Amino acid sequence: MDDAAIVVREGVVESVTSSARAEELPAAERIDGRGQIALPGLVNCHTHAPMVALRGIAEDLPTEEWFNDVVWPIESNLTEKDVELGARLACAEMIRGGVTCFADHYFSMDAVAAVVEECGIRAHLGEAYFSSQGPQGREKSLEFALRHRGGAGGRITTALAPHAPYTVDDGDLTATAALAREHSLPVHLHAAENRGQAEASLARHGVTPIEVLRRTGILDTDVLIAHGSGILDSDLPILSSAAGRTAVATAPRGYLKFAWPTTTPVRALHDIGIPVGLATDGAASNNSLDVWESMALTALIQKSTTGDPRWLTSRQALHHATLQSARAVGLGEIVGSIAPGRRADIILVDLTGPHTQPVHDLAATLVHSARSSDVRTTIVDGRVLMRDRELLSIDVGAVVGELEERMPALLDLSHGRRIQNYST
Ligand SMILES: [Zn+2]
Repeated sequence: MDDAAIVVREGVVESVTSSARAEELPAAERIDGRGQIALPGLVNCHTHAPMVALRGIAEDLPTEEWFNDVVWPIESNLTEKDVELGARLACAEMIRGGVTCFADHYFSMDAVAAVVEECGIRAHLGEAYFSSQGPQGREKSLEFALRHRGGAGGRITTALAPHAPYTVDDGDLTATAALAREHSLPVHLHAAENRGQAEASLARHGVTPIEVLRRTGILDTDVLIAHGSGILDSDLPILSSAAGRTAVATAPRGYLKFAWPTTTPVRALHDIGIPVGLATDGAASNNSLDVWESMALTALIQKSTTGDPRWLTSRQALHHATLQSARAVGLGEIVGSIAPGRRADIILVDLTGPHTQPVHDLAATLVHSARSSDVRTTIVDGRVLMRDRELLSIDVGAVVGELEERMPALLDLSHGRRIQNYST
């Protein structure tokens, strides 16, 4: 709609009208968006925000060495302060890139929740755990989810967050599913991340990771599956008959970087009605939390892997980044579109630059020509978090300075420990 105005009151979109009509309304604040496009804020459906502290630390490695030789040894040094600083830097990066909500899956999540509260972004948070932690890991994840649910004025929603079927055993997954049903909590976990994991699961247990989710009852809950590039054709009927709300998050840059042979089967999931949200995973593998890039990559990789230039279109890519992503994190009725009654999570994108002119096809301009750096204004719950590229709630220089001081202790591997072992 040309010449549109969005009227926001108490954090909610009240109406979408013409600018002439809006001018007649009383307003505490007016934002001039001429030459810009308003979009629903992007949703990053799966990340480990504090891992921005490890951006670029483990490059050009296979998945197993990435985990076992670098990331999991370093993570045994993590302190709550590291998590807090990483989360703050991550939120700054996401707000600057037009992300208004992120789903996070990590440790010391109290620190992440505090950063979310302070900086104004929206988040879906889960305290991750492995079976190697014993039942305490699961109990801590539940306690976190119950305590923070509805926090930060409703901007925080929560999930139970078992790490993955290859690090959390069937008994723990079954217990998690029971807790999810008992407390009406969703589950967010990694599963069928790549083809190698699916094949290893079949060889060792005779079932795919998706079948593990079914037999442990996880698919009877509302579940967000990270990656799913190892979902097999035989898994599709299982997913389509799942009793709960199932969604998949795709973060394609990492799959390319790890040289995984397949990507998330977005088209097959679409055909069985499963929303696919866009994600970045953590910056230790993805190198950025740029959902704009995930959107462009998803469009390109889908065309390449299906051999069909019509799949998927720029309009579809935008739908994945906004409404499908909102559905994936259980907020499909709350955000993901700009319409009366939705929370006002809105971004303004500048299309006046030479790389975005002229505009013949608005969706294509947004997905394939615009960049996250073209986002000028980011609004969450009606609060302006970035105005004309200036962050209003986070001091990036201060965060980077503090993080630098933490690095020697964080990167010290002389202890020889690791928090977990990866063998699919
Ligand atoms: Zn992940």
